Amino acid sequence: MKKAPRALLAAVVALSIAPLSSTAQIGPHWDTIAKIREEGLQRSQVMDIAGYIVDVLGARLTNSEHMKRAQAWAKDKMEKLGLVNVAVEPFMDYGMTWDNEYFSLHLLEPDYQPMTGFPLTHTPGTNGKVACAAVIADVQTRADLAKFKGKLKGVAVLASPPLAVSQAALAQGVSRLTDEDLRKLEENVIPPAPRPTPPPPNPDVLKADEKIAFFKAEGAVAVFQCEGGRPGVVTGFARPGTKDDKDKWSREKTLDSLPIVAVTPEHYNRMVRVLKRGLPVKVEIEIRNRIGEKVGKAANVLGEIPGTDLRDEVVMIGAHFDSWHASPNASDDASGCAVALEAARILKAIGAAPRRTIRVALWGGEEQGIFGSQEYVRQHFGNPKDPKNPPTPAYEKFSAYFNQDYGAGQYRGIYLQGNEYARLLFAAWMEPFRDFGLTAVSIQSVGSTDHVAFDQAGLPGFQFIQDRIAGTAGHTNLDFLDTLSPEDLMKNAVVMAAFAYEAAVSDARIPRKLLK
Ligand SMILES: [Zn+2]
Repeated sequence: MKKAPRALLAAVVALSIAPLSSTAQIGPHWDTIAKIREEGLQRSQVMDIAGYIVDVLGARLTNSEHMKRAQAWAKDKMEKLGLVNVAVEPFMDYGMTWDNEYFSLHLLEPDYQPMTGFPLTHTPGTNGKVACAAVIADVQTRADLAKFKGKLKGVAVLASPPLAVSQAALAQGVSRLTDEDLRKLEENVIPPAPRPTPPPPNPDVLKADEKIAFFKAEGAVAVFQCEGGRPGVVTGFARPGTKDDKDKWSREKTLDSLPIVAVTPEHYNRMVRVLKRGLPVKVEIEIRNRIGEKVGKAANVLGEIPGTDLRDEVVMIGAHFDSWHASPNASDDASGCAVALEAARILKAIGAAPRRTIRVALWGGEEQGIFGSQEYVRQHFGNPKDPKNPPTPAYEKFSAYFNQDYGAGQYRGIYLQGNEYARLLFAAWMEPFRDFGLTAVSIQSVGSTDHVAFDQAGLPGFQFIQDRIAGTAGHTNLDFLDTLSPEDLMKNAVVMAAFAYEAAVSDARIPRKLLK
C-alpha cells in the first residue's frame, strides 16, 4: 500500500503542518486517486444524475407524494449502481402529506398581468377560482388589529411591507472565493463568541401565525407575502407556526389556516404602490393542494459499498434529498445528492475495495430542521451526552460523515468543525487536488445542515468549504439545472469519492475531538 511518492509527499505535508507522530498510513493513496480522477473527470455521470433529479423528479418536499416517487427512484438508482443494503428507511412520524397540485394567479386591475408566485406549504387551497380585491393590512402589534377590524372580508391581504429589490448580484455577478478569502478562513482560528441570548419577544408584537388567525377570523380569502428582495425570485417556506405544531403539519391546522401566497418582489411592490395611490387592485387566485388524511412517516434513503476486513466500521457520505416545494432546488440540494451518488458510482466503477463500509445517505427532513440525519444518528449511533439514548456498538465503529449542502459550488477546502486531530489527514488527502484549488483547512465550525447531527453526538461530521456560484441558493422558485456548473460538480464528486476512500482505507478511524 505504501508507495514512495505518497510517503514522500505525506512527509512534506506533515512537516509543513505538524510533526508526524508515527509512520501511520495517512494517505493520499495516489494510485487509487488516479483512478478516481480518471473515472470522475473523463467519464463523469454527475450531470446525468443531477439532471434526472431536477428535470424528471422535480421538487421533493419531505413527506409529499412527490418525495415518495423521488425516493423510490433513488433506491432504484443506488441498486443499479451496485450498492447493497439499499433501503428507504422511515425515521419519524411527519404529519400529513402536502402537495400543491395547481396554482394560478393573475392581476385583473388596474391592468391584466400574469403573476409569479406559489403557495406556502401546509396551507389550504382556495374554494375554486376566486376574484377579489387586494388590501394592504400591515398589522404588527395588537394595537394595529383595531384598524382592520371589519375591513378584510373577502379580500386578499398584502401582509408584509414592500421590499427593496437588490440589483447588486445582477450588476456585479457572483464572485468565487479568492485566495485571500481562503487565507482569511484559515487564519480565523479562534472560535466565535457564543451569540448573546435574544431578549424575550415583545408580547405586544403579533407572531406570524397570530396575524394569519386574525385575517382568517376577519374573513380574508388569501394572504400575499414577499421575502428575499432578489429580482424575479420568489422565496417561501411553510405556514407560520408549523414548527410549533405538537402533531407536526397537522391536517386540522392546515385547513384552519388561509391560503398564503409568496410572490416576486416586483409584483408585490406593484400592488402596494397602486393601492397607496388610492386605486383598487383586483386579483384572481386558484390553488388546489392535496392534504393527506393520516400521519405519514418521513424517510432517508441509504445504500452501501461493503467494506472488506473492517466492514463493520463505517464511513458516510451524503446530502439532503428533500427540498422546498416551488422548484426542484437543483443547488439545494439535488447537487449534493448527485455528487454523493456519483462518488459511489466512481468507487464502484474503479473496483475500489474499501476496508471500511462506505454508506451513502440521502436525507429527508433537512429543510424543516435536519430531522432525517438527527433521527438516523439517534437510532443508529446514540449519543454519550444523552442518558436516554446511550451509544450503540456502532458508535465506536463509526469513522466520519462528509456532507455537501452549501450550494453547488466547487469544494475549496474543508471545515474541521473544531477537530484539530483531523487536520493532518485532511491536508494530506487534499494534496492530489491542488489543481482544483482545493487547499483550505479551516478550524471553524459551520452549521445548518446534516453534518451537525453527527457533530452534536460527538461523531466526526464535516462540510466542505464551497465556492459561491451564481444561482438563487435554493428555497426559491428558480433553482433549476441551469444554475449548476458541471465542472464544479464533477470535481466535487471526485473529491467526495477520494475522501470516502481515504477514510475507508486508513489505518485508523478519523480521530474525534473531545466531547463537550
Ligand atoms: Zn440545503
